[in-house]
Amino acid sequence: MTDRHAIDSRTDMGPTPERVFHSTLSLLKKLTAISSPSGDRPGLERAMDLFGEALSERDLKVDIRPMPDAQGQDLPVLSAHFADHSGDRDLLLVGHMDTVLPAIPPRREGGRLWATGAVDMKGGLACLIGALDLLRAQGRAIPRDLSMVVVPDEEVAGFLSWQAMRERGKRARALWVLEPGQPLAELAESAGVSPNLGSPPDSNSHPDRKDGETLVVGRRGLITWALDVTGRSAHAGNGFWAGRSALVAASQWSVQAAEMSEPGRGATVNPGRFVAGEAGFVEALGEHADLLFSPRQTNVVPDRARVEGEARFLTTEEGRALEKRLNRLAAEASEQHRVTMQFQILERVPPLPPLEPSRRWARLAIELARKNGWHLESEEDRRGISFPNMLDDPSSVPTLDGLGPVGGGMHTREEFVDLRSLNRRISLLAGLLEADARSSQG
Ligand SMILES: [Zn+2]
Repeated sequence: MTDRHAIDSRTDMGPTPERVFHSTLSLLKKLTAISSPSGDRPGLERAMDLFGEALSERDLKVDIRPMPDAQGQDLPVLSAHFADHSGDRDLLLVGHMDTVLPAIPPRREGGRLWATGAVDMKGGLACLIGALDLLRAQGRAIPRDLSMVVVPDEEVAGFLSWQAMRERGKRARALWVLEPGQPLAELAESAGVSPNLGSPPDSNSHPDRKDGETLVVGRRGLITWALDVTGRSAHAGNGFWAGRSALVAASQWSVQAAEMSEPGRGATVNPGRFVAGEAGFVEALGEHADLLFSPRQTNVVPDRARVEGEARFLTTEEGRALEKRLNRLAAEASEQHRVTMQFQILERVPPLPPLEPSRRWARLAIELARKNGWHLESEEDRRGISFPNMLDDPSSVPTLDGLGPVGGGMHTREEFVDLRSLNRRISLLAGLLEADARSSQG
């Protein structure tokens, strides 16, 4: 996925051959039959071993290494690359092996495979194996600098996922994420408004759009923040006018902060937690929980409040501007209410802005899908955090996310992968890999 060369859109793998589809499905059944919820070391090891074996059989050099997570528990992390690759940059493919729930036995029914992790995201991992088989069967080129990392703790926003992305991201000339795309129908429904799709305006009239799918080139970043307010306590009767309510000041700040949210592509601010009262109560909440649901201390003007929340935005500049506005709002509110307000950022997760090279690759993907008779669109404003957000600087790496097959029921007992989508995505991924191999060779 380089910028230096034009992308060759002649690449056309055709539909996935029956044989490749069935071997991919059979691998997916085996992978999902192994229970590998986050933290289950033996299960994760067995699933990693099975996937590692599949990669080895396709000539990749595989390394599965136990690595300590934040709690010090060793969990397996899989890395793979071609033995003959010696450069210092690579095409990084990422996925995770952990699931939210322990596995139920997989079953195929009605064009779907019902299984734990079928779509999130063992389906995407299986697709890569299918794509490699398809390329080999057709004698096509495969990028020699392809490198793969599979982590064991993505579903718990794990330490090892962040560590892998930080380290491996430095070497990545491009990042492809095998997390699931989304059915277009579902996307429109969940957004409540017309979604911001980076597609031509006439796509609404596209006949295949109703069972179209997406991939992702942009994801929001977020900040988590805290506001600490100190006022002056007083007797709510005799001393009412001498008191300065931290609660009232923090409430007004919260309402105004939330009102900075804008629908569509705008940023959102979510005050997520609010504690206020007499300082002793707020600062030792655990010890004084018995005050809640009682009338005690309501005769005090509350002198302490803390609000904790987050904000999401599409570009780094937007994020910075938002931080400034929230800070300014704190300065204004503290003056108005004559209280002390301290606004602080707890953590910053950078956004994945839709980059032009990513968009170009998305256009190629859309074209490949069209040639195979299905409709694909690119999402530029996915709101959840994923692998690309874990890079030190997501805006420096062209990224295609949501390359995996679509389905439904993620994180539930009703999880399934749509087998038609599995079929589509094998061929799509193969086409993209081949185009990448050709463009890197120049
Ligand atoms: Zn996932």
